[in-house]
Amino acid sequence: MDKLKKRALQIAFVLLAVGLIIGFSLGGIWPGDLNLRLRQPVAPVQPVQPVEPVQPVEPVPPQQEEREEEAREVEDEIVIVDGLRKAMFWQDIGGGRVRCEICLHLCVIPLGRRGLCRVRENIDGRLFSLVHSRPSAAMIDPIEKEPQLHHRPGTEILCIGTVGCNFTCKHCQNWTLSQASPTDRRVFDLPPARLVELAIEHGVTAISFTYNDPIVLFEYVYDTARLAYAAGVGLIWHTNAAIKPEPLRRLLPYTTAMTVDLKGFCEEIYREIFGGDLPTVLNALKIIREEGVWVEIVNLVIPTINDSPDEIRAMSEWIVEHLGPDVPVHFSRFHPAFKLTHLPPTPIETLETAHRIAREAGINFVTIGNVPGHRYNSTFCPDTGDRLIRRVHFRVLYNKIEVCPETGIGRSPFSGRVIPGIWQ
Ligand code: SF4
Repeated sequence: MDKLKKRALQIAFVLLAVGLIIGFSLGGIWPGDLNLRLRQPVAPVQPVQPVEPVQPVEPVPPQQEEREEEAREVEDEIVIVDGLRKAMFWQDIGGGRVRCEICLHLCVIPLGRRGLCRVRENIDGRLFSLVHSRPSAAMIDPIEKEPQLHHRPGTEILCIGTVGCNFTCKHCQNWTLSQASPTDRRVFDLPPARLVELAIEHGVTAISFTYNDPIVLFEYVYDTARLAYAAGVGLIWHTNAAIKPEPLRRLLPYTTAMTVDLKGFCEEIYREIFGGDLPTVLNALKIIREEGVWVEIVNLVIPTINDSPDEIRAMSEWIVEHLGPDVPVHFSRFHPAFKLTHLPPTPIETLETAHRIAREAGINFVTIGNVPGHRYNSTFCPDTGDRLIRRVHFRVLYNKIEVCPETGIGRSPFSGRVIPGIWQ
């Protein structure tokens, strides 16, 4: 019996030892250790700090930020030396000469001389604009006068012009500005920022560079365009479009709309009567269209110069093929001026013939200008022939185009067809 008890005690001891070893290896806790841990002082729970309520963030449209950034960049980039804005797009070609690379002429300008446009001067081997911030004409006009007939009809624009031009049109209505030098005319002190302020103060649709060709005052237009863009003000330029692709592409992102004078469709006449170059203009028109900027075309029909039905047909077909049928085309009446005072005003029938040819070629929106009260001052639905916008000269009597407030897309109420343009 003692032997049995002794044996049982041995087994119990072994079992106890094995149990302790297994317990340690599984939990790693000795009973003593467990007690020690329980006796450790427990860190008091820190009261939760009250959290500042999150302020709702004012939603900032990304475009707004971009626009403010843009305005800062404009200020950084404008280089003024002795009160004159340094020109853009020119090269130093040695010997003190510079080459202006803004327009078709690519003028090579010696020291102290000006380009063909009279408003860009080589001063100490650098090219400067003589008309930046110095317009000689500033006026508030109806947008129809531009003409921009598919662009917020019945509103007003701030129109600006300086002296100088890169063309020498013999018929020019504004020749007292376009063919003048900076010292010939009085000037206003209107820097780009002031133009934008004026546009906002007067609540106009856009600033328009129009009375002479904006190409020759490129830096003034560009600096204003970028500030206008930053401020949400529109920018229009009315031009002969004989501009080189690089400056054109630089300005287009800040351009709301353009009116282009397509002065005919004959290269020889373009050179001799207007001092221009047709291929440069056609190329610029294609770029404007590719870049998606709203453009309307004006063709001033001058008796014996560019009024041949064949030429008008060729021009209309080119427009349909390269720009599409929805670019509005305005045939405008010539009145004798400048060096073409010996020619008569354009007969109304000639304008009506031009209108018919353009419609036959497939252009959807064709109007006649400079003939107040003519039926074709108005815009018609191409599908039904109903009058969409009734105009007398520059005055809008009614506008029936239905505009979607969300998308801004305008439609004819007669056919539902989209009428291209900027309607709101
Ligand atoms: S903008 Fe004036 S200076 Fe420059 S190339 Fe044209 S005409 Fe010549």
